[in-house]
Amino acid sequence: MQSKQTSYDVIVIGSGVAGLSAAVSAQENGASVCVIERAPADDAGGNTRHTGAYIRMKSVDEVSDDFEEHFADNAGGYLDPLMMADVARDQQSWPPLLKAFSFVDPNVVSALAQQAPATLKWLTGYGVRFTPLEVPFPTSAQPRIVPSGGGQAIVESLTKVFTNKGGTILYETAATSLIQNPEGAVCGVRALGRGNRTLEVRSGAVVVASGGFQGNAEMLTRYIGPRALNLRAMSVGGQYNKGEGIRMALDVGAAPCGDFGSYHASPMDPRSRRAGPSIYIYPYGILVNKEGLRFVDEGPGETDETYERVTRRIFAQTDGIAWCILDAKVADVPNQSVAIRTEQPAIEAATLGELAGKLGVPPAMLERTVAQYNAACVAGEFDPRRVDGLATRDLHPPKSNWARPIDRGPFKAYPIISSIVFTFGGLKTDTMARVLNLQGDPIPGLYAAGEAQGLYYGNYTGATSVLKGAVFGRLAGSDAAHASRASTSAAPA
Ligand SMILES: Cc1cc2nc3c(=O)[nH]c(=O)nc-3n(C[C@H](O)[C@H](O)[C@H](O)COP(=O)(O)OP(=O)(O)OC[C@H]3O[C@@H](n4cnc5c(N)ncnc54)[C@H](O)[C@@H]3O)c2cc1C
Repeated sequence: MQSKQTSYDVIVIGSGVAGLSAAVSAQENGASVCVIERAPADDAGGNTRHTGAYIRMKSVDEVSDDFEEHFADNAGGYLDPLMMADVARDQQSWPPLLKAFSFVDPNVVSALAQQAPATLKWLTGYGVRFTPLEVPFPTSAQPRIVPSGGGQAIVESLTKVFTNKGGTILYETAATSLIQNPEGAVCGVRALGRGNRTLEVRSGAVVVASGGFQGNAEMLTRYIGPRALNLRAMSVGGQYNKGEGIRMALDVGAAPCGDFGSYHASPMDPRSRRAGPSIYIYPYGILVNKEGLRFVDEGPGETDETYERVTRRIFAQTDGIAWCILDAKVADVPNQSVAIRTEQPAIEAATLGELAGKLGVPPAMLERTVAQYNAACVAGEFDPRRVDGLATRDLHPPKSNWARPIDRGPFKAYPIISSIVFTFGGLKTDTMARVLNLQGDPIPGLYAAGEAQGLYYGNYTGATSVLKGAVFGRLAGSDAAHASRASTSAAPA
């Protein structure tokens, strides 16, 4: 829908879970709201449209036991203890340097954990239903719940609520930069419509909810490096996220947060045409690179807690690719549809040499690698449903669990690359999703939520991105509605 109106209380950039949560919440708080969305209506919703939307909670009332601890364990690089000494103080009294610092603010994580139950109940009020997920991965350390219908159900429910209440969505329109008033407050957005048509929309506040930059080859190369060429977005939806939201906020002085050089990695079948074609079966076989060599412990622990680290090692191999090698015994692994999410068949052969030929891996090397691995396997009880401790002996790298010989044909292989689910680099916010500047002060009228709000470093705290988008989107929307009203009433008549 295109609109002739050019001024609103709140503008939201993006209509994934973060943007729609912000838009509906701002509307609930009395604001007139315009959503600017790059995609056409039937493809809008970015990554959210394509996700199963697992949520790291035991139930709608309770987050996982390790929730805040996992974020704290992945809080940044080697954090300076002198700077961190002030973290325990009330946040208002933090020195400006700490407020603007690029690390995981424990107050933001606490707000996420505390607001999670209320936010899911709020979504339930708009028709989204959550249920426990019994088998999220072949083996799991932490529980997950899911919305029925996945992220698409969230996008469709909230879009309907928003438009039924008179909200405007400008589809096929990409926000390009922020407009500021002479005092530095954000008061609108410049955008591009179809055919490079420029437009300006004014508002009392802007919520940046336009995702990360996984759809922008230049930014990926700049921040992650030239090897980013070997990454593929986990869904086509992620390709709409080209990073302008993050860039436009940095351009007006926003502080960065989240690891700009990293991203959420997940093992995917590069041949697949589906969103989310993950391959989690490798713990029951071995991984070899283009040279036919093993390079990582394939079974270091529960799949949900370790797949990202294994995927990063795959990314580090020649051309960022590896193959999972399995034998006929893999048929006794239960829940194969959870472990193998590609629609593409395994590559099969009667012998390892023949399989290597089909993969383009040196046959003699693959045969030698498998022989060495088989020789290091010991007798013991194999249990695919839990960490079984069936480890190799005197092998480097070791395989810590599920180590059975690969000796019964036909042999199978799946190619695996690292997908980029979303980028980690984003904007620093406070607990109300207000974007902070490099002095640690909120930039008046500017909010960020979802992937655009940076919070991840190191190992992603799995199944928290949709939740984070919903929680901080909702908070951003309500605060933006109030801030916009306050700025309008304060403006000279
Ligand atoms: C296959 C798959 C599985 C996943 N599984 C999980 C999971 O189980 N649990 C979990 O928590 N997370 C998961 N994720 C990640 C999660 O889906 C996303 O990180 C989250 O949904 C992001 O929400 P968002 O609102 O920030 O961004 P998005 O949903 O990506 O929405 C961003 C929107 O902004 C629009 N946009 C971008 N740039 C502009 C611009 N300049 N102007 C206007 N509009 C713009 C885009 O078109 C898009 O509609 C998964 C992702 C994928 C792809």
